[in-house]
Amino acid sequence: MSSTGNFQSRLFPLPRRCVVAPALIAMLLMAVAPATAQRPHGGETGAATAVADKPANAPLSGDEAAERPVTAIPLPERRPAGRKAASSAADASNNQSDRATPAELRDREPAITPEAAVAAAAAIADARICEAELTRRGVTFTVGDSISEGDCGVLRPIELDQLSSGVTIAQPTQLLCRSALALDIWVASSVVPAAQAQFPGDAVTAFRHASTYVCRSRSSGSRISEHARGSAVDVADFGFVSGRRLGVEKQADGSPEQAFQRKIREGACGPFKTVLGPGTDADHATHFHLDIAARRNGATYCK
Ligand SMILES: [Zn+2]
Repeated sequence: MSSTGNFQSRLFPLPRRCVVAPALIAMLLMAVAPATAQRPHGGETGAATAVADKPANAPLSGDEAAERPVTAIPLPERRPAGRKAASSAADASNNQSDRATPAELRDREPAITPEAAVAAAAAIADARICEAELTRRGVTFTVGDSISEGDCGVLRPIELDQLSSGVTIAQPTQLLCRSALALDIWVASSVVPAAQAQFPGDAVTAFRHASTYVCRSRSSGSRISEHARGSAVDVADFGFVSGRRLGVEKQADGSPEQAFQRKIREGACGPFKTVLGPGTDADHATHFHLDIAARRNGATYCK
């Protein structure tokens, strides 16, 4: 591990084998940054940079709200290759360090200020509080090793097994704990009761997501996606006791499916701070994009 890594491991009680790159420190800061703080990357809806220069409810350009279609994007590997690459990069850096002058070494050192160290420690403490809340609610999950891949990463990613309502998730997840908690609250308080109201006797048992953590920029390529921080989940369809599957898509006017979808979409806005879906734009015609990107004064972007 690099000297930076040793320094960080003394400061923060991170999981073993966790590679903490400067990018992850940035992620930690973003995870705890108040909405008014300037953050290095824009959110899914341009929230982060928009926060600094736009009112919370200012209309966003199509580019800002755009997101690449998720169907063509595979889930990340459980052990991202980037972690190994990061180790190799650190090794290479160490070899170079042997020949570097003290001044050059100082220039290479990432800026880990006391303020950054305090914020990072707070992010870890908050993740642990959130994990305790998931457990208290009855969610079954595991906490993966923190991920750091260049500009992307997730602190203590939550791999959900079963939500407190008994609803399961078809594929693995890698989510920030606060996103996993929002998901559990949403399914218990909106999805399950909406299904009971619209499809009596046929309860929701599972849902399928199209992606959680993915290391990619937004479709504009200029800013990083909320998926790249583990803040976002794309909900693609729901499974019911009867075997019925209901995809997130434009539903027939006046149908129970339309009422169900409208109700759960409204209910997502609150636990999640960004809610996009069919009707938002072509990229969101077949899933709900839900994330917890922070905004000034707790504002939401539900479109
Ligand atoms: Zn998305």
